[in-house]
Amino acid sequence: MQPVLSIQGISKSYGRIQALNQVSFDVPAGCVFGILGPNGSGKTTLLSILLDILRADAGTYRWFGEPGSPASRQKIGSLLETPNFYHYLSAVDNLNITQAISGRGTPADIDQVLEIVKLSARKKSKFSTYSLGMKQRLAIAGALLGNPDVLLLDEPTNGLDPVGIAEIRELIKQLAREGKTIIMASHLLDEVEKVCTHVAILKKGTLLTAGPVDEVLSNEDIVELSASNTDQLGQILSAFAGPSHIKRDGDLFELFYPVGTARLDEINKTCFEKGVALNRLLLKKKSLEAKFFELTND
Ligand code: ADP
Repeated sequence: MQPVLSIQGISKSYGRIQALNQVSFDVPAGCVFGILGPNGSGKTTLLSILLDILRADAGTYRWFGEPGSPASRQKIGSLLETPNFYHYLSAVDNLNITQAISGRGTPADIDQVLEIVKLSARKKSKFSTYSLGMKQRLAIAGALLGNPDVLLLDEPTNGLDPVGIAEIRELIKQLAREGKTIIMASHLLDEVEKVCTHVAILKKGTLLTAGPVDEVLSNEDIVELSASNTDQLGQILSAFAGPSHIKRDGDLFELFYPVGTARLDEINKTCFEKGVALNRLLLKKKSLEAKFFELTND
């Protein structure tokens, strides 16, 4: 299937700062795609280029198989920074203004987008009475005007409390279930892991990796073991079928297994039956965080 978005070799510098360096990846239709990276890694710059707010120095991108155009932009709802809603106006009145200024959708769509973000019951309340999570949901409602196929969100949970974060997370999942493609930038690994199906990791403007979350941020079981007879242990381990790979560091071995598949009792039994008594056998979990730091640290 044709990707919703295809990015090829995008570069952008601000004077001497290279914000993006030859970034390329595809966003498949119907996914929740996280652009993950620490602050300053180029996420907002990339989103701004994709929305034609900024111009890339080099590279191209295609939305729905075509170069960016006013027609394709109609199919993309975006939320790059918190919109300026009027505190003394209700949700409905604020969205009426958003709709009139943006020209997206019609005034008749407003009730529907408020329903989607679950603000119907409070649609007549003043914006100033909303919680932070409700304010952000209203901003997303604004981005949903015109029923776009794609939603582009920059740090959608920034500044929210845990309840607000959970609300936005649920909303993103719900929109994805309804068939929208969601592209969101985040510096929070945890957030990306919880809502995204796909991820691209940026570090100082360079793409480190991109693909399905479970592949990119794969969690591994690592079994560390040793025995006094290192060579014999090495021979036994090389005949093991389960691990995806084996590392040796001095007299210590590390066996890497897909998450949840390492069986210490079986490893111990097999080694013992083959005449080697282990003097060390332990399961280390490689956390997603460790993987993220491994990818993004120098
Ligand atoms: P992120 O969204 O991942 O935090 P940004 O795209 O905002 O990253 O920034 C990437 C790099 O570009 C950073 O080093 C930032 O300081 C720099 N940068 C962003 N916008 C500008 C600008 N308007 N002028 C100069 N440098 C900028």
